[in-house]
Amino acid sequence: MAKKKTDPFFSNEKILDIIRTYSNDTVYFKDVHSRFIWNTRSHAAQFGISDPREMVGKTDADFFPKDFAARARKEELEIMDSRTPLISNTERLEKPDGSVVWYSASKYPLLNEKDEVIGTWGISRNITALKIVEEELSRTNEKLRRLSQVDDLTGLFNRRYFYEMIEKTASQYDRRSSGKKDDDPKNTFCLISLDIDFFKKINDDYGHNKGDDVLRLVAGILTSQCRKSDMVFRIGGDEFMMLLPDTPLKGAKVKAERVRSALSSSPIVLDETSDAIRLTASMGISCYRDCKDVADLIHTADERLYTSKNLGRDRAT
Ligand code: GH3
Ligand code: MG
Repeated sequence: MAKKKTDPFFSNEKILDIIRTYSNDTVYFKDVHSRFIWNTRSHAAQFGISDPREMVGKTDADFFPKDFAARARKEELEIMDSRTPLISNTERLEKPDGSVVWYSASKYPLLNEKDEVIGTWGISRNITALKIVEEELSRTNEKLRRLSQVDDLTGLFNRRYFYEMIEKTASQYDRRSSGKKDDDPKNTFCLISLDIDFFKKINDDYGHNKGDDVLRLVAGILTSQCRKSDMVFRIGGDEFMMLLPDTPLKGAKVKAERVRSALSSSPIVLDETSDAIRLTASMGISCYRDCKDVADLIHTADERLYTSKNLGRDRAT
């Protein structure tokens, strides 16, 4: 039977020619010295060369910045040595004009029929557009993450973030003391629960918008009394929480007294026809060292806040 003649379209040469001419991805073959043996036209076009055959015998060092070429050579030596490909490696190339191009590059050991390593070959794709979208997305995610932690009205952290942070803080102290009580009075943290006194009356007398102004003002006063490590949250309505790391009960009481005095020494004028009003708040303080767990810590602060309300307000318990 006559041997079927191979369709010339599918000759190896023709296939290679199609890849060389039309592949938008860069495809190349290199010898053991990382000198180009064969390149696609798209590869040559990156360097303003129209005929890829002009690249034969040259190396990355002839086209790319020194550090980029050195990194590529090191990778190729490792690939040849280990006979292991490097798949989808993200490469960053800064061009002389300052612009940045990103590639996703795969490199493989090049083997002959005797299974000897005779170089490397690789494919790389320009993923700059994808990277730009990715970076934009990560910036948007970061913005959303921040927004999800913040109370719109006051700019303080919100209730959701409060629960996240109190759990996180407690677990840090749990780990630090690892079961045994530490003598260092700072090795604990405190919580101050605060609620503005007679806030409904402000809304009733001056309107909801002025009430909002008061909430923002209180937020500013609470923040002004904080150290860098303290955190202030608006839990809802006229309720706030202050989380005080590395603070024993004694220190928290001092802080609460400072807050109380800062509030009462900042009389506010809500409209020109009325007298300035003196704002007060009631507070409850709890210390993690004296509580069973986070729920107990929050519950104790709230209980003590209500004690302060019942005792006549404008105080901390
Ligand atoms: P107390 O001394 O017992 O705390 O009395 P209070 O009048 O402050 O009463 P309470 O704390 O129970 O009520 C808080 C009020 O806060 C109820 C609600 O009308 C008002 N409020 C809740 N959220 C907002 C808000 O976002 N803006 C304004 N302006 N008012 C709010
Ligand atoms: Mg209140």
